[in-house]
Amino acid sequence: MAHLLIVEDDELLRDGLCAQLAQAGHTVTGASDGAQAQALLDGTRFDAVILDLGLPVVDGMAVLRWVRKRLATLPVLILTARDGVEDRVEGLNAGADDYLTKPFDMAELKARLQAMLRRSRMPAFGGSMEMPAGNARLRVDAQLPRAWLGDEPLELTQREWELLSLLVANAGQVVSREDVFSAWQSESAEGAGMGSNALEVYVHRLRRKLADSGLNIRNVRGLGYMLENATP
Ligand code: CA
Repeated sequence: MAHLLIVEDDELLRDGLCAQLAQAGHTVTGASDGAQAQALLDGTRFDAVILDLGLPVVDGMAVLRWVRKRLATLPVLILTARDGVEDRVEGLNAGADDYLTKPFDMAELKARLQAMLRRSRMPAFGGSMEMPAGNARLRVDAQLPRAWLGDEPLELTQREWELLSLLVANAGQVVSREDVFSAWQSESAEGAGMGSNALEVYVHRLRRKLADSGLNIRNVRGLGYMLENATP
Protein backbone atom coordinates (compact mmCIF):
# COMPACT_ATOMS: atom_id res chain seq x y z
CA MET A 1 0.00 0.00 0.00
CA ALA A 2 1.15 3.59 0.38
CA HIS A 3 3.21 5.61 2.85
CA LEU A 4 1.10 8.62 3.79
CA LEU A 5 1.87 11.85 5.62
CA ILE A 6 -1.09 13.34 7.51
CA VAL A 7 -0.55 17.00 8.43
CA GLU A 8 -3.28 18.18 10.80
CA ASP A 9 -3.04 20.24 14.01
CA ASP A 10 -6.38 19.00 15.38
CA GLU A 11 -5.11 16.07 17.42
CA LEU A 12 -8.40 14.20 17.52
CA LEU A 13 -8.87 14.45 13.75
CA ARG A 14 -5.21 13.58 13.07
CA ASP A 15 -5.32 10.49 15.28
CA GLY A 16 -8.62 9.45 13.71
CA LEU A 17 -7.25 9.82 10.18
CA CYS A 18 -4.04 7.98 11.07
CA ALA A 19 -5.96 5.09 12.66
CA GLN A 20 -8.46 4.75 9.80
CA LEU A 21 -5.85 4.88 7.06
CA ALA A 22 -3.54 2.49 8.91
CA GLN A 23 -6.50 0.12 9.18
CA ALA A 24 -6.96 0.46 5.41
CA GLY A 25 -3.45 -0.98 5.06
CA HIS A 26 -1.37 2.18 4.63
CA THR A 27 1.76 3.15 6.50
CA VAL A 28 0.89 6.45 8.15
CA THR A 29 2.97 9.23 9.70
CA GLY A 30 1.35 12.21 11.43
CA ALA A 31 2.59 15.79 11.74
CA SER A 32 0.98 18.54 13.84
CA ASP A 33 2.38 21.63 12.13
CA GLY A 34 3.87 22.77 8.84
CA ALA A 35 7.49 22.86 10.00
CA GLN A 36 7.28 19.28 11.27
CA ALA A 37 5.78 18.26 7.93
CA GLN A 38 8.66 19.87 6.02
CA ALA A 39 11.23 18.12 8.23
CA LEU A 40 9.54 14.75 7.61
CA LEU A 41 9.25 15.35 3.86
CA ASP A 42 12.96 16.22 3.78
CA GLY A 43 13.98 12.90 5.23
CA THR A 44 11.38 10.37 4.08
CA ARG A 45 9.82 9.27 0.83
CA PHE A 46 6.02 9.50 0.97
CA ASP A 47 3.49 8.37 -1.65
CA ALA A 48 0.92 11.06 -0.81
CA VAL A 49 0.20 13.88 1.65
CA ILE A 50 -3.08 14.86 3.30
CA LEU A 51 -2.59 18.49 4.25
CA ASP A 52 -4.70 20.75 6.46
CA LEU A 53 -4.49 24.38 5.31
CA GLY A 54 -4.92 26.09 8.70
CA LEU A 55 -1.73 25.01 10.51
CA PRO A 56 0.51 26.59 13.16
CA VAL A 57 4.17 27.62 12.59
CA VAL A 58 4.13 27.20 8.78
CA ASP A 59 0.65 27.22 7.27
CA GLY A 60 -0.64 24.62 4.84
CA MET A 61 -0.52 26.82 1.75
CA ALA A 62 3.18 27.58 2.41
CA VAL A 63 3.87 23.85 2.87
CA LEU A 64 2.05 23.13 -0.40
CA ARG A 65 4.15 25.68 -2.34
CA TRP A 66 7.30 24.31 -0.70
CA VAL A 67 6.34 20.75 -1.68
CA ARG A 68 5.69 21.73 -5.29
CA LYS A 69 9.16 23.27 -5.66
CA ARG A 70 10.89 20.16 -4.37
CA LEU A 71 8.64 17.19 -5.00
CA ALA A 72 6.79 18.14 -8.15
CA THR A 73 4.85 14.90 -8.54
CA LEU A 74 3.99 14.09 -4.91
CA PRO A 75 0.17 13.83 -4.70
CA VAL A 76 -1.33 16.28 -2.17
CA LEU A 77 -4.93 16.33 -0.96
CA ILE A 78 -5.80 19.46 1.00
CA LEU A 79 -8.28 19.65 3.86
CA THR A 80 -9.84 22.98 4.55
CA ALA A 81 -12.27 24.17 7.19
CA ARG A 82 -12.77 27.29 5.17
CA ASP A 83 -15.50 26.70 2.69
CA GLY A 84 -14.68 29.76 0.60
CA VAL A 85 -14.29 28.99 -3.06
CA GLU A 86 -11.15 31.18 -3.14
CA ASP A 87 -9.30 28.87 -0.71
CA ARG A 88 -10.01 25.85 -2.83
CA VAL A 89 -9.04 27.64 -6.03
CA GLU A 90 -5.88 28.98 -4.40
CA GLY A 91 -5.01 25.48 -3.18
CA LEU A 92 -5.57 23.89 -6.56
CA ASN A 93 -3.61 26.68 -8.27
CA ALA A 94 -0.77 26.13 -5.81
CA GLY A 95 -0.59 22.53 -6.97
CA ALA A 96 -2.95 20.49 -4.79
CA ASP A 97 -4.25 17.40 -6.59
CA ASP A 98 -7.58 17.36 -4.79
CA TYR A 99 -9.32 18.89 -1.79
CA LEU A 100 -11.97 18.12 0.80
CA THR A 101 -13.91 20.62 2.91
CA LYS A 102 -14.32 19.83 6.61
CA PRO A 103 -16.34 18.13 7.89
CA PHE A 104 -15.79 15.33 5.40
CA ASP A 105 -16.89 11.76 5.09
CA MET A 106 -14.13 9.21 5.76
CA ALA A 107 -15.31 6.96 2.92
CA GLU A 108 -15.06 9.89 0.51
CA LEU A 109 -11.57 10.74 1.74
CA LYS A 110 -10.47 7.14 1.21
CA ALA A 111 -11.96 7.04 -2.29
CA ARG A 112 -10.29 10.31 -3.30
CA LEU A 113 -6.99 9.23 -1.81
CA GLN A 114 -7.19 5.96 -3.73
CA ALA A 115 -7.95 7.80 -6.98
CA MET A 116 -5.05 10.18 -6.36
CA LEU A 117 -2.63 7.31 -5.70
CA ARG A 118 -3.88 5.50 -8.80
CA ARG A 119 -3.32 8.56 -10.99
CA SER A 120 0.15 9.09 -9.56
CA ARG A 121 1.12 5.53 -10.49
CA MET A 122 0.03 6.06 -14.05
CA PRO A 123 2.35 7.88 -16.42
CA ALA A 124 1.96 11.64 -16.19
CA PHE A 125 -0.83 12.98 -18.34
CA GLY A 126 0.57 13.86 -21.72
CA GLY A 127 3.77 12.05 -20.89
CA SER A 128 5.30 9.16 -22.72
CA MET A 129 7.63 6.43 -21.53
CA GLU A 130 9.81 4.03 -23.36
CA MET A 131 12.09 1.15 -22.60
CA PRO A 132 14.35 -1.16 -24.61
CA ALA A 133 12.62 -4.23 -26.05
CA GLY A 134 15.08 -6.51 -27.75
CA ASN A 135 16.50 -4.57 -30.68
CA ALA A 136 13.57 -2.13 -30.67
CA ARG A 137 11.91 0.09 -28.09
CA LEU A 138 8.54 -0.17 -26.43
CA ARG A 139 6.90 3.26 -26.24
CA VAL A 140 3.78 4.10 -24.25
CA ASP A 141 2.07 7.46 -24.73
CA ALA A 142 -0.30 8.41 -21.94
CA GLN A 143 -2.13 11.13 -23.80
CA LEU A 144 -3.23 9.28 -26.90
CA PRO A 145 -3.28 6.61 -25.27
CA ARG A 146 -1.30 4.29 -27.54
CA ALA A 147 1.68 1.98 -27.40
CA TRP A 148 4.22 0.99 -30.04
CA LEU A 149 6.78 -1.72 -30.35
CA GLY A 150 9.42 -0.16 -32.56
CA ASP A 151 7.36 1.42 -35.37
CA GLU A 152 4.49 -1.04 -34.99
CA PRO A 153 1.46 0.17 -33.01
CA LEU A 154 0.21 -2.38 -30.49
CA GLU A 155 -3.49 -3.14 -30.73
CA LEU A 156 -4.60 -2.94 -27.12
CA THR A 157 -7.90 -2.72 -25.31
CA GLN A 158 -8.24 0.00 -22.64
CA ARG A 159 -7.61 -2.50 -19.83
CA GLU A 160 -4.59 -3.97 -21.61
CA TRP A 161 -3.22 -0.50 -22.17
CA GLU A 162 -3.65 0.42 -18.50
CA LEU A 163 -2.00 -2.83 -17.44
CA LEU A 164 0.90 -2.27 -19.83
CA SER A 165 1.49 1.34 -18.78
CA LEU A 166 1.45 0.32 -15.12
CA LEU A 167 4.04 -2.38 -15.85
CA VAL A 168 6.22 -0.02 -17.91
CA ALA A 169 6.03 2.72 -15.24
CA ASN A 170 7.23 0.15 -12.72
CA ALA A 171 9.54 -1.87 -15.00
CA GLY A 172 11.85 -4.10 -13.01
CA GLN A 173 9.60 -3.88 -9.94
CA VAL A 174 6.69 -6.02 -8.88
CA VAL A 175 3.23 -4.63 -9.61
CA SER A 176 0.73 -6.20 -7.22
CA ARG A 177 -2.71 -7.45 -8.25
CA GLU A 178 -4.19 -4.75 -6.02
CA ASP A 179 -2.23 -2.11 -7.96
CA VAL A 180 -3.73 -3.40 -11.22
CA PHE A 181 -7.26 -3.50 -9.85
CA SER A 182 -6.96 0.04 -8.51
CA ALA A 183 -5.58 1.19 -11.87
CA TRP A 184 -8.65 -0.39 -13.41
CA GLN A 185 -10.70 1.83 -11.12
CA SER A 186 -12.28 -1.16 -9.45
CA GLU A 187 -13.04 -0.73 -5.80
CA SER A 188 -11.46 -3.61 -3.91
CA ALA A 189 -14.69 -5.62 -3.60
CA GLU A 190 -15.39 -5.28 -7.31
CA GLY A 191 -11.74 -5.98 -8.05
CA ALA A 192 -11.92 -9.16 -6.01
CA GLY A 193 -15.15 -10.03 -7.80
CA MET A 194 -13.31 -9.75 -11.08
CA GLY A 195 -10.84 -12.20 -9.62
CA SER A 196 -7.26 -13.17 -10.29
CA ASN A 197 -8.43 -15.40 -13.14
CA ALA A 198 -9.59 -12.41 -15.18
CA LEU A 199 -6.30 -10.67 -14.52
CA GLU A 200 -4.43 -13.81 -15.65
CA VAL A 201 -6.35 -13.65 -18.93
CA TYR A 202 -5.31 -10.02 -19.53
CA VAL A 203 -1.71 -10.79 -18.64
CA HIS A 204 -1.78 -13.77 -21.02
CA ARG A 205 -3.12 -11.61 -23.87
CA LEU A 206 -0.55 -8.93 -23.21
CA ARG A 207 2.23 -11.54 -23.17
CA ARG A 208 1.08 -12.75 -26.59
CA LYS A 209 1.13 -9.20 -27.96
CA LEU A 210 4.63 -8.71 -26.61
CA ALA A 211 5.84 -12.06 -27.96
CA ASP A 212 9.25 -11.78 -29.71
CA SER A 213 9.69 -8.27 -28.23
CA GLY A 214 12.29 -9.46 -25.74
CA LEU A 215 9.99 -8.24 -22.97
CA ASN A 216 8.61 -10.71 -20.50
CA ILE A 217 5.81 -10.30 -17.94
CA ARG A 218 7.04 -12.45 -15.10
CA ASN A 219 4.59 -13.93 -12.62
CA VAL A 220 6.15 -13.32 -9.20
CA ARG A 221 4.35 -15.92 -7.16
CA GLY A 222 2.19 -14.49 -4.42
CA LEU A 223 3.26 -10.90 -5.17
CA GLY A 224 2.19 -9.87 -8.64
CA TYR A 225 3.76 -9.23 -12.03
CA MET A 226 6.99 -7.72 -13.21
CA LEU A 227 7.92 -6.45 -16.66
CA GLU A 228 11.50 -7.34 -17.47
CA ASN A 229 13.74 -7.34 -20.47
CA ALA A 230 14.40 -11.00 -21.10
CA THR A 231 17.07 -10.45 -23.76
CA PRO A 232 20.62 -10.75 -22.46
CA1 CA B 1 -6.22 23.25 11.34
